[in-house]
Amino acid sequence: MTPRIELLQGDITLLKVDAVVNAANKSLLGGGGVDGAIHRAAGPGLLEVCRLLDGCQTGEAKITKGFKLQADYVIHTVGPVWHGGNNDEEKLLAGCYRNSLRLASDYKCKTVAFPNISTGIYHFPRELAARIAIIETRKFLEESQLPEKVIFICFEKENLDIYRQILNM
Ligand code: ADP
Repeated sequence: MTPRIELLQGDITLLKVDAVVNAANKSLLGGGGVDGAIHRAAGPGLLEVCRLLDGCQTGEAKITKGFKLQADYVIHTVGPVWHGGNNDEEKLLAGCYRNSLRLASDYKCKTVAFPNISTGIYHFPRELAARIAIIETRKFLEESQLPEKVIFICFEKENLDIYRQILNM
């Protein structure tokens, strides 16, 4: 168990943290799943600033304010679409976690919450995605004081169980 990692089940848009991570698409102009939920909860101001960001490459991350969310910031990252595993999917997903954590640290965020990036519409295998999320986060936290706490928030019980098992929580 890693004391700086916390596990929750629920809706990321309700969290009172310094930053929530959005599993966005390359346009950064909103979409379904968690992306749609974050945009609905943040209000139209979020889309307005996202229009100015010129999209985002897969595996990269960009940051905006949180607007009507409780969170100060939204870190928008673009997970890879699963195409069978031979298209750098694992490396790209690791990049999402690493680059999001780096932005969180640069912006002095103490608490950051991640959804299960790529495991919805993008069909990344859930267990593999969870392992990558945890490995990459642990690696980052070993080398950085910030964020102080990382929350993995699972929408579905199945993902929660996978994380519980890997984290031994
Ligand atoms: P992707 O396109 O990266 O697969 P999705 O939004 O389809 O993104 O799914 C990513 C994960 O986010 C899925 O596990 C999905 O169940 C979860 N999710 C959807 N809505 C929310 C929400 N409001 N809060 C937290 N997680 C959510």
